[in-house]
Amino acid sequence: MEELQSLIAKAKKIVFLGGAGLSTESGIPDFRSSDGVFKAIRAYGVPPETLLSIDFFEDYPEIFYDYYKKFLIYPDAQPNKAHKALAKLESIGKLNAVVTQNIDGLHQAAGSKNVLELHGSILRAYCSSCRKSYDADLMNHGTGVPRCGCGGVIRPDIVLYEEQLDNDVMMRAIQYIRNADVLIVGGTSLKVYPAAGLINYYRGNKLVLITRSSTPAEADLVIHGKIGEVFAQV
Ligand code: NAD
Repeated sequence: MEELQSLIAKAKKIVFLGGAGLSTESGIPDFRSSDGVFKAIRAYGVPPETLLSIDFFEDYPEIFYDYYKKFLIYPDAQPNKAHKALAKLESIGKLNAVVTQNIDGLHQAAGSKNVLELHGSILRAYCSSCRKSYDADLMNHGTGVPRCGCGGVIRPDIVLYEEQLDNDVMMRAIQYIRNADVLIVGGTSLKVYPAAGLINYYRGNKLVLITRSSTPAEADLVIHGKIGEVFAQV
């Protein structure tokens, strides 16, 4: 912790790269932990990667939305100490960007301004046919499959399996990570590509990894612990 505190004290261009583990302390389960969402998805009889794919969404929107509303929407979730500490680091000019795989909008709720959402957000919705924007509340909290006036199915603005990430968001994330003096990676299993590959663009020697479990990546500083509790001390 002392080493992390010292790195942050000297840093001017921190970038944070995070994933679902950042929001578990806000009550949103991650995917791959033993109590994660992937386990629950198996009850649907299809692999999680299939259920969350664009093909499945198009073929079985009723089943997709049944799962989506049960397992991806947490209306009562609030930012935790990690989200808040990152927002504070940005406000005092130490952190340049948060690059997140999360789709829950909790970084913005905590006050972060420069958030690059690699996988989109459940707080935005649009028609999969005519692309008209819709109020996400109707999609997230209404019943059944939400439909547009044109007849198309309204979908969350999230990146499903088999879909491409937004190129502009990806390029900006690469740019920030390349220029970072400290890269803090936290709450991600680093198993979802291309997001996981972003750490390879970091050119410094202050790569910090904060995780509850083991990860495939090596780092200059590894802190095992709950990320909210770690950030409460910075
Ligand atoms: P993941 O589920 O694959 O991995 C989460 C990692 O975080 C695990 O290594 C776990 O041990 C660790 N972790 C969990 N709680 C932690 C805590 N309190 N402190 C420290 N580490 C903790 O998640 P991923 O790597 O982000 O990839 C999964 C995909 O699922 C992403 O694409 C993401 O978009 C999506 N997802 C998002 C949310 C969300 O928006 N909150 C929730 C679930 C899944």
